[in-house]
Amino acid sequence: MQKTRRRKLGVMGGTFDPIHHGHLVAASEVQHRFDLDEVIFVPTGQPWQKADRQVSPGEDRYLMTVIATASNPRFSVSRADIDRGKVTYTVDTLREMRAQHPDAELYFITGADALSNILTWQDWAELFELAKFVGVSRPGYELNTDHLTEHLRDLPADAVTMIEIPALAISSSECRRRAAEGRPVWYLVADGVVQYISKRRLYEPAERKVAK
Ligand code: ATP
Ligand code: MG
Repeated sequence: MQKTRRRKLGVMGGTFDPIHHGHLVAASEVQHRFDLDEVIFVPTGQPWQKADRQVSPGEDRYLMTVIATASNPRFSVSRADIDRGKVTYTVDTLREMRAQHPDAELYFITGADALSNILTWQDWAELFELAKFVGVSRPGYELNTDHLTEHLRDLPADAVTMIEIPALAISSSECRRRAAEGRPVWYLVADGVVQYISKRRLYEPAERKVAK
């Protein structure tokens, strides 16, 4: 009898303020390398790491994520974190994905910068029960897990995999700065996202919004 293969789902958490081509290349690359059936993008609720700045409304970040991923049949977007309406911790995201997809194998996709934070500050032991972690390279950040060695020693070899992906030195911070200064974000983010930012005047300084 043929054994049915467990579904393999990627989970890509992020603030996505805005979603850019660095996020999309990371997801696409991991989807291909791990033969994932689907990658679910999960925009965060009010992110705890970013308490120092105003994060765009969840609804705007959700819609930009939908716009940017719509053309890829293997990409989808979950409202789980923005609808929870609280600060998002990766462990909450993964618990919810696990509850929604009890039979699937989960792969949490994260950039080099975010990975060490997640594993340092959170309930990391449970994280590894919920998902495998895939850390992708990101220009300007060292893909280094030396300080995690102690934690990782007792885990299976595939609990955390580091992969090299095409380098895109794009960040949401830089996209916001550009939009605020009236510089182009074309080709850093999906075309529809350029138009959405402009339509909603998302990153314009308050004084310019008043002036118009
Ligand atoms: P910000 O500048 O506001 O922090 P960001 O560009 O880092 O935004 P996030 O939404 O914080 O985007 O990141 C979501 C996830 O995508 C994180 O795991 C992050 O490491 C990863 N990521 C973001 N940009 C890249 C990139 N250019 N290459 C690889 N991974 C990336
Ligand atoms: Mg970031």
